[in-house]
Amino acid sequence: MKIEAFTVDDLPLISEGDDLVGMILDRVEFEDFDILVIASTVISKTMGKVREIADITPSAEAMRIASKLDEDPRFVEAVLDECEEVLIEAPFMLVRREDGHICVSSGIDRSNIEAGKLLILPQDPSKTAAEIRSRIFDEAGRKVTVIITDTNGRAFRVGQTGVAIGASGMSPCKNWIGLSDLFGNVLTITNEAIIDEIAGFANLMMGEGGDGTPAVIIRGLEIFEDVEAFDEVIRDESEDVILDALRRL
Ligand code: GDP
Ligand code: MN
Ligand code: MN
Repeated sequence: MKIEAFTVDDLPLISEGDDLVGMILDRVEFEDFDILVIASTVISKTMGKVREIADITPSAEAMRIASKLDEDPRFVEAVLDECEEVLIEAPFMLVRREDGHICVSSGIDRSNIEAGKLLILPQDPSKTAAEIRSRIFDEAGRKVTVIITDTNGRAFRVGQTGVAIGASGMSPCKNWIGLSDLFGNVLTITNEAIIDEIAGFANLMMGEGGDGTPAVIIRGLEIFEDVEAFDEVIRDESEDVILDALRRL
């Protein structure tokens, strides 16, 4: 197997209302089955998902949690506003968002944004991904997959990686169940989360700092499907033993 992967270069600082997809279309000659991976940061910027910390009035609950964290209560208030459920309060806030995505501090960033501002995750990243996918089909005539990523920490292991928080045009998992291994044993468990493997690699190419490369194209992986199926990667609450354990803490 051989794949090609490249960053979309020379994108400017993005602000609300900017035509990010138009900018990408200007810079990339898309081919069928390309995977376009975009950092949630710039999606949020185009949508104006930005809050001024100075405009936020913290609730008593935010002040209570902030005192445990040595954190600005206004930041904690923004985190609470963006989540459905707090699973861990300290030493960091682990929360569950409305769409089931579990992350630290509701995925709110204070990096790659002006001081005093908070960058909030997009509300429905898969819907945005679907809109981008159909725009690329309309304007470039190409069938592409779109994945929107964020950098997340993970349980059990040190270090953050890119994960998909929304997508359009692929099945998030490759199911190996029923296929054979090298010795003819039939696989019974493995359902590979290819969406996060791709997100992790694209995130590596984006960088976390001042590279200014929020979009990456992966070419040569034949995973395109004309589906909206991102939600399949969010484990059902009733089957999630770790979520259940956290709720019992
Ligand atoms: P996140 O992982 O979605 O939280 O995004 P990051 O803050 O880690 O940024 C990912 C990449 O996008 C890095 O290369 C940043 O430099 C780049 N980036 C962030 N904001 C902008 C922007 O407004 N314009 C450009 N060109 N790049 C940006
Ligand atoms: Mn982020
Ligand atoms: Mn990042």
